[in-house]
Amino acid sequence: MAETSHVATRRKERKDKEAAELTKDVKEVKNEGEKAADNSEEAPTNGVEANGQNGEFQVEPIELPPFEIIVGDRIDPLVFKFQFKNVEYSSGRNKTFLCYLVDRGNTADGLLRGYLEDEHTGSHAEEAFFTQCLPQYDPALKYTITWYVSSSPCSACAAKIAELLKARKNIKMSIFAARLFEWEEAEIQAGLRALHTAGCKLRMMKPTDFSYTWDTFVENEEQPLNPWEDCKENYEYYHEKLADILQ
Ligand SMILES: [Zn+2]
Repeated sequence: MAETSHVATRRKERKDKEAAELTKDVKEVKNEGEKAADNSEEAPTNGVEANGQNGEFQVEPIELPPFEIIVGDRIDPLVFKFQFKNVEYSSGRNKTFLCYLVDRGNTADGLLRGYLEDEHTGSHAEEAFFTQCLPQYDPALKYTITWYVSSSPCSACAAKIAELLKARKNIKMSIFAARLFEWEEAEIQAGLRALHTAGCKLRMMKPTDFSYTWDTFVENEEQPLNPWEDCKENYEYYHEKLADILQ
């Protein structure tokens, strides 16, 4: 049971850090308002460049976490409500949260569940999922992978996932996204279409998906999710955009 207490300690540390971060994020949003709307939400693939672009780095250089990709069991409720909110402009949300379910069929340890977030790192959560959560790939198994992500993948990640799905036909993949990341960009749209063509099921998160994610991946204290105002309207907005892109 030593493992449990270790995990608990790490979770505690993580929670403290997230709480501090959230306060900072909220402050930033308040201070900068929609001015930050055009900030790149996902870091570019080059780690050094990402650090340079992220203004937080100059301000608080000692805040660097001991690990680059944070992997966990359940998300803090306040962090979830902020990071997954399906607003049109995602000010202050400069990282991706990825909740995952993996069904590997009739194996002893068949079902995997958890979440990860990318932070201060050049490697995106989507890529980290395959290296950290699913490092062992068995071509004899059938994989059903479901992601609930705070925003849809960038073009580089979309291309990588599409390649992977083409190469590994025994993986069935569904991605439910709270927001569309930079959907006006032609490159991003091409990435989403490539994913779709490769057989990935791509959907926007409906209010019921937010509730499901809350129930499954959040430290919800047995409380149901009270969806924010405009949750359904925002879903419909993004749903329409995605349908146009995938047409
Ligand atoms: Zn990416």
